[in-house]
Amino acid sequence: MQLTSHQFKARAAQKLNDANLQAALKKLQGNFVKGRAERVAELDNFQAIRDAGAAIRDRALANLDVYLETFERNASARGAVVHWAESTADVNRIVCELAAKYGVKKAVKSKSMVTEECELNDALEAAGVQVVETDLGEYILQLAKEPPSHIVAPVVHKVKDEVSDLFAEKHQRPRQTDIGALCREAREMLRGHFVTADMGISGANFIIAETGSTLIVTNEGNGRMVTTLPRVHVAITGIEKVVPTLEDVSTLIRLLPRHATGQTISNYVSVTTGPRRAGDSDGPEHFHIILLDGGRSQLYASDMREMLRCIRCGACMNHCPVYQSVGGHAYGWVYPGPMGSVLTPSYAGLEKTRDLPNAATLCNQCGVVCPVKIPLPDLLRKLREKQFEQGLKPKREVWGLAAWRWVAERPKIYALMMKIAARVLAQMGGRERRIAKLLFAGGWTNGRDFPAPQGKTFRELYKQHQNLSHRFHR
Ligand code: SF4
Repeated sequence: MQLTSHQFKARAAQKLNDANLQAALKKLQGNFVKGRAERVAELDNFQAIRDAGAAIRDRALANLDVYLETFERNASARGAVVHWAESTADVNRIVCELAAKYGVKKAVKSKSMVTEECELNDALEAAGVQVVETDLGEYILQLAKEPPSHIVAPVVHKVKDEVSDLFAEKHQRPRQTDIGALCREAREMLRGHFVTADMGISGANFIIAETGSTLIVTNEGNGRMVTTLPRVHVAITGIEKVVPTLEDVSTLIRLLPRHATGQTISNYVSVTTGPRRAGDSDGPEHFHIILLDGGRSQLYASDMREMLRCIRCGACMNHCPVYQSVGGHAYGWVYPGPMGSVLTPSYAGLEKTRDLPNAATLCNQCGVVCPVKIPLPDLLRKLREKQFEQGLKPKREVWGLAAWRWVAERPKIYALMMKIAARVLAQMGGRERRIAKLLFAGGWTNGRDFPAPQGKTFRELYKQHQNLSHRFHR
């Protein structure tokens, strides 16, 4: 997916006026926010599980090299081939080489955000391989030629009528309006691809060091067909996804579906260990696992390492007032919402993504709901500080803050200026005591009026109040 984060402000403004998107985003509150709250409330020991989840991720990261090597050793011992990819271009090269080696004409995919990072579909198609997305949301997006807007529900930005129109146009069938009928139609279109594909491509929610297995969490069953039917299976994921043991994974699985979709557990939790063995009824003949760095080791070495705990549940975006208002496409890359506003600048650089660390109110709702306790507002604040240090803040903001600091360090001048400002603003507010357009802060009043003060500063009012209460108590 191409990076367009530099257009965040313009896109956000456009998304606020998109009636279909605004209707679609309401689903977040109903399905995900409410669902998460209900499933979490069912657990007596939720905070203890959350603490354990964060500790497991920390332990894995603290010994990342050891667990990755253990994973490689155990996966290889069970017949898988592990590849290390420093960059997304390396991932594409490795997959295209595998496609050429095994004579692959068609690949079926289950949902994988890492392959979105790599723009793998484009690379494979350029190499002459037909790629078919089989997750329902990703399939819809492939037909619509759009990127995902959410890491768990990639097509959350569309309403049902848009999908009805799209299927009728692309499938050349009568327009269906019933969700069940639309799902059946997609299934009919996809079935043939599963049995004729030469390669299945999946991501991995976790990779397990002690067994050398990959694990995916899905709801549609397409993941199982992608990983078992084609003769070649390629699993692609980030190096940070390693978890020491199966027992550790069982703790994380208690958190992931609850926070992602408001489910106690997802329909399928599939663990794949090596290719098909003699006597197995299904499974690929060849199993390759590609582990991507793609900026992760740089993040690991920085003061933002906590971000690598992320288990990609999407709860932070579901609860974010900014994401809830503008949706995922405004963020301009694979990872939207608060986690994306940390990850995208970390992977792509602050220069190209300078609006993202500021695309948050710092209300801490994301930090409160994150199942592995990532302090997202703190990380966003750190990025803002880095922006300032690197001179990436707009000059007007820097000069404005410098002027404010100069005044704030001189209490007498500060008090005088506040007096003047309070009186001027009171005049501007008129009888209604509302200001429709603020000078130098027009953005603030674009969507609402500024309530004008009464004409007195806080200090004056405080003093007045003290005098009154003093007289009253005499
Ligand atoms: S940052 Fe936390 S809440 Fe957001 S996707 Fe990652 S694990 Fe989930």
